[in-house]
Amino acid sequence: MTTYTFTREIETYKQADVVIIGGGPTGTAAAISASRCGKKVVLLEKTAQLGGMGTIANVSVFMPIGNVTGIYRELIAEMLAESLPAGHDESIAPQYSPFLMRHYMNEKMKKEKVDVYFHCEFIGTIQEGSRIKAVIVSTREGLRAFEGATIIDCTGDARVAIEAGVPYTSGRESDGLTQPMTLMFMMQDTGKPVTPLLPEGCYDYQDVADLPQGRRLYWEQNNDGSLLVNMSRVKANGAKIEDSNYAETEALRQVFSIAYYLQKTGFENYALTHIAPQTGARETNQIVGRYTLNEQDLTSGARFRDVVAQTNYEIDIHSPDAKKTTDERRIDGYDIPYRCMVPEAFDNLLVAGRSISATHVAMSSMRVQATCYALGQAAGAAASLAIDNGCKMEDVPMDNLHGILQDQGVKFMK
Ligand SMILES: Cc1cc2nc3c(=O)[nH]c(=O)nc-3n(C[C@H](O)[C@H](O)[C@H](O)COP(=O)(O)OP(=O)(O)OC[C@H]3O[C@@H](n4cnc5c(N)ncnc54)[C@H](O)[C@@H]3O)c2cc1C
Repeated sequence: MTTYTFTREIETYKQADVVIIGGGPTGTAAAISASRCGKKVVLLEKTAQLGGMGTIANVSVFMPIGNVTGIYRELIAEMLAESLPAGHDESIAPQYSPFLMRHYMNEKMKKEKVDVYFHCEFIGTIQEGSRIKAVIVSTREGLRAFEGATIIDCTGDARVAIEAGVPYTSGRESDGLTQPMTLMFMMQDTGKPVTPLLPEGCYDYQDVADLPQGRRLYWEQNNDGSLLVNMSRVKANGAKIEDSNYAETEALRQVFSIAYYLQKTGFENYALTHIAPQTGARETNQIVGRYTLNEQDLTSGARFRDVVAQTNYEIDIHSPDAKKTTDERRIDGYDIPYRCMVPEAFDNLLVAGRSISATHVAMSSMRVQATCYALGQAAGAAASLAIDNGCKMEDVPMDNLHGILQDQGVKFMK
């Protein structure tokens, strides 16, 4: 294998207190939180939209976590007021419009004075000792540097951390297989029968047992005749080149096949109206952080002094072998500690969201959007505190962090 050394002079495009890479649930919450702490925040996103898997992969349902608090609660109040529970310690599972969410996030970032840069894909880090001084980004105008006093990796894949050399794991401990990928799509009730269409190369499913997940899984809560479908399943790791290539074509084949099946089995009036621009990745990379969340923490209801998020979302593992099974196990609720977001070796880097330090089983529960909002919010506040105190991320004082989160409306269950 030939290797190359690539050297370039790259000019700095922007400097900020907090540079956040990835504009999903985690990155948007981190940006809001840090900005509310009075910090100059830059949010870099490689696609054209905020919302992460929730919009780009059209995963437009919030799974219940049992603690509707902080920025997530605010989002529900502003976007989905009819779903807002009276108390924070209740569970909701509302569906939303991915298109309205995309717009909401744009407007929200403007209100919160966050500088968002679309079409900005992180590609590398500039390091000075144990600090990341800048990130190198591929922009519409070529490579540019964004300098930050603190850096938060919210790429979902730990892309920044891995590039910087942080150790990581991927998938099941036994064989490295991750949860499978799914291409979400929507159908619309047209009020009259549609002609089912099965394009060349697709599958003619005859029975539920033939379907990729061996089940029908969809939502119709928006009361506008739309149907959100989560029924494809592809054995692939969305952080790998060949796997992603395979997934993007195989998942699309499945989508047309499933739509055809549904049009023949109960959804005769429904047209295929929207296919997410990108196949969704449930699980890719986890950093090795100062603490690794594990199955025992989930099943024993672990509590931590440095709690930053709480959830009672089930263990939810779609078969990594892409068999037709899903391992679903109820749990009562647990804390996620701050240390899961803190990699060793760097003083000014946090990794938040689905790629925190967690085992395969533990990440299957903590990965859902509401939890990622909570983790992002805590990461943004922690980055701000690290700047104010002139300390390393690992030394952020917990009492102060909890104080800021409380001021920002976060409530934890005792
Ligand atoms: C098919 C599927 C179904 C799911 N079902 C549900 C569900 O029903 N309910 C629920 O709550 N959760 C569900 N989830 C989980 C949830 O959507 C994700 O775990 C959650 O969105 C993770 O948030 P995140 O911010 O950590 O990462 P992501 O949502 O993945 O966001 C990461 C962001 O970073 C950007 N990015 C990545 N790399 C770079 C780079 N190099 N440079 C710049 N930007 C970059 C991405 O474009 C993206 O916007 C599902 C996930 C999938 C895939």
